[in-house]
Amino acid sequence: MNPPHAPLMDEPLPRPRRWGAPEMARLAAMLEQDSLFYWNGQQTVALLGGFRELYPLEYAFACSSGSAAIHIAIAALRLKPGDEVIVPPITDMGTVIGILYQQCVPIFADLDPATYNLDPADVRRRISSRTRAIIAVHLAGNPCDVSQLQVIAREHNLALIEDCAQAWGARAQGAPVGLAGNLACYSLNQHKHVTCGDGGIVATNDLRYGPGLGKWGDKHYDRMAGGRDPEELAPNYRISEPQSAVAAAQLKRLPEIAARRSAAGDRLTALLSGTPGLRLPRVNAGDTSSYWFYLVRVEAEKFRVTRNELAASLAAEGVACQAGYIPRPIYQYPVFRNHNFFGGQWPIRDLGLTSVDYRNVSCPVAEEILRDCIIFTLNEAMSDSYIDKLAHAIRAGSKRSLK
Ligand SMILES: *Cc1c(COP(=O)(O)O)cnc(C)c1O
Repeated sequence: MNPPHAPLMDEPLPRPRRWGAPEMARLAAMLEQDSLFYWNGQQTVALLGGFRELYPLEYAFACSSGSAAIHIAIAALRLKPGDEVIVPPITDMGTVIGILYQQCVPIFADLDPATYNLDPADVRRRISSRTRAIIAVHLAGNPCDVSQLQVIAREHNLALIEDCAQAWGARAQGAPVGLAGNLACYSLNQHKHVTCGDGGIVATNDLRYGPGLGKWGDKHYDRMAGGRDPEELAPNYRISEPQSAVAAAQLKRLPEIAARRSAAGDRLTALLSGTPGLRLPRVNAGDTSSYWFYLVRVEAEKFRVTRNELAASLAAEGVACQAGYIPRPIYQYPVFRNHNFFGGQWPIRDLGLTSVDYRNVSCPVAEEILRDCIIFTLNEAMSDSYIDKLAHAIRAGSKRSLK
């Protein structure tokens, strides 16, 4: 339903042009090659070279997706069936898929109500004698409290994996995200800051995991030594040269994309600060968010309308937004509720290697965030003046719906 007056937001949503001449040039060069196989392919070499310029991680493997990168990271830890990995409940399925395929157990810890990232205090509460790792997801480009998570990981001898899929270009205490943990994972899917349609990178400086990383994404073949005599079970998660060609060109765009998004998001926070009924995302002092999206929480008791109605009324005013994010916390998805992981069964539970029952899991803060959040679209094509108008529209539009 359109409002009877002129919409508060009269500028169309700016859409960044994401690909162009640099991607085309790399694709053209690629077609001159003899091989489109990733191993020593010039495009994959260029992708990993460009990656290391941004992220000083000596061992990096380009793979088929962010989910693949995380599966490879988990596999590289060589966990035992029934070992536990602590994860946040608001994330993409890709964060937990690899854990389950390795016959391990995702354990959900609750979130900080203002950063929407893992709450270190709750992570501590969820640690058991079976805990082996933590996956820290930098949600929406906002860095986790990595220093606290590092302390916990060290204290309990846990591996720390950083899921940087939504956080290309973000900085934790000045350093690019991914350098604080043992392993870092990135996604290049269509919806991320930089993309080649689908792709991923897993990387580390840790000598225990680095040299073998590639094997975990390539059937455990040893491409270096030329051997096809696998010692372990590993999937084929290879990237290909067409993907790498586009991704290598995309990485050159990242600094500008991230800087623009950081500026836009911080500007929006400054302009919206103090808006009655809205709780804005907190970026910890010293961190830089690259705002994959902009998530605001609605103080329901202050409004005459529901969260869904507020989002719909803002959308009708020309504000690009949606009510909510994922439909429910990951542990409430049917696959978890029914423990339907392998043909309707969960072998490790049947074998007594875990007693976790996902029907009993609860993370109240995460549940509340999903009930009361509105996500605003934010992108690198938005000028300062667009952000100014957007902030005005959100302020004026939400004010009308207050009690
Ligand atoms: C996108 C995403 C993934 C998975 O990446 P794919 O490339 O889609 O497999 C994992 N974790 C988070 C937080 C993501 O946003």
